[in-house]
Amino acid sequence: MGKLIKEEGDKGRLHIETRLLGESLVDKQLLRKTEATEYFRMQPDVNVLKIGGQSIMDRGAKALFPILDELIEAKEKHKILLMCGGGTRARHVYNIGVDLGMPTGVLSKLGDKVSWQNAEMLSVLLAKHGGVKIGHGDHLEQLTMYCQLGYLPITTGIPPYGFFEHPAELGSIPPHRTDSGACLLAENIGAKSLIYLKDEKGMYEGDPKKGDRNTMKFYDKLHVDELLEMDLDDLIVERPVLTFLKNAKTLKSFQIIDALRHPEHIRAALEGEHVGTIIYKD
Ligand code: ADP
Ligand code: MG
Repeated sequence: MGKLIKEEGDKGRLHIETRLLGESLVDKQLLRKTEATEYFRMQPDVNVLKIGGQSIMDRGAKALFPILDELIEAKEKHKILLMCGGGTRARHVYNIGVDLGMPTGVLSKLGDKVSWQNAEMLSVLLAKHGGVKIGHGDHLEQLTMYCQLGYLPITTGIPPYGFFEHPAELGSIPPHRTDSGACLLAENIGAKSLIYLKDEKGMYEGDPKKGDRNTMKFYDKLHVDELLEMDLDDLIVERPVLTFLKNAKTLKSFQIIDALRHPEHIRAALEGEHVGTIIYKD
């Protein structure tokens, strides 16, 4: 905390003495000292669920309705924020943007509309059960209130970088899409858990759709450092999520589940059961 010093003869004007005064905020030693022993959690009972665009939403009614039935039941017991992926339509618009030579930030702005379309669809489908579409503005402080009142808040997973999206290490696809947005939000609200609803049971050594899933190694639990070290060519979650978890203050793990074949795993994961791949730190 800064020290407030009232100087004599200074007509009561305040001078603030703070350990960060005159610092560049770059100095490593200083930054280390800003580590809190325990970080404040704004929404410690809220579970952040990201529903896949390509892996779930794009499959339509057959995939979605059993999942929505689970969510309607689950929200009676668990506080849930639903975040939406983009999927095939986002890939299409990225492809046109790439063809036009658009920079990453423009592609990011194009993709967020698709994730919003999915949020719109889910909020319509869930409206009569309390589904409510919310923005990234003032509503995030109100999540507990929504959930306590029986609502199921739904939002886009795309983090609001837009023209400020980071340049990608390879190519031009925005590196921070909806898996990243869900992870960043879960961390910053101090969420209870982060669960990715996908169409595979978790992390394999490669994409099981491109190889023989029966001979591929499956990881049911992995330390994030180990996963970063393995530097796999392809992952079931966006790559930046791993670094986010590594540096996270409140988030200690997340789980990836197969909500397509096993919608009942949603409730199991909310109960803290291990039904997919858990990526953890510490
Ligand atoms: P979402 O719709 O949630 O954004 P994506 O389609 O972007 O999901 O990513 C999930 C897909 O990633 C899976 O359906 C799977 O085919 C693929 N995938 C790539 N690498 C892996 C891996 N190492 N393990 C499991 N799945 C992988
Ligand atoms: Mg994806």
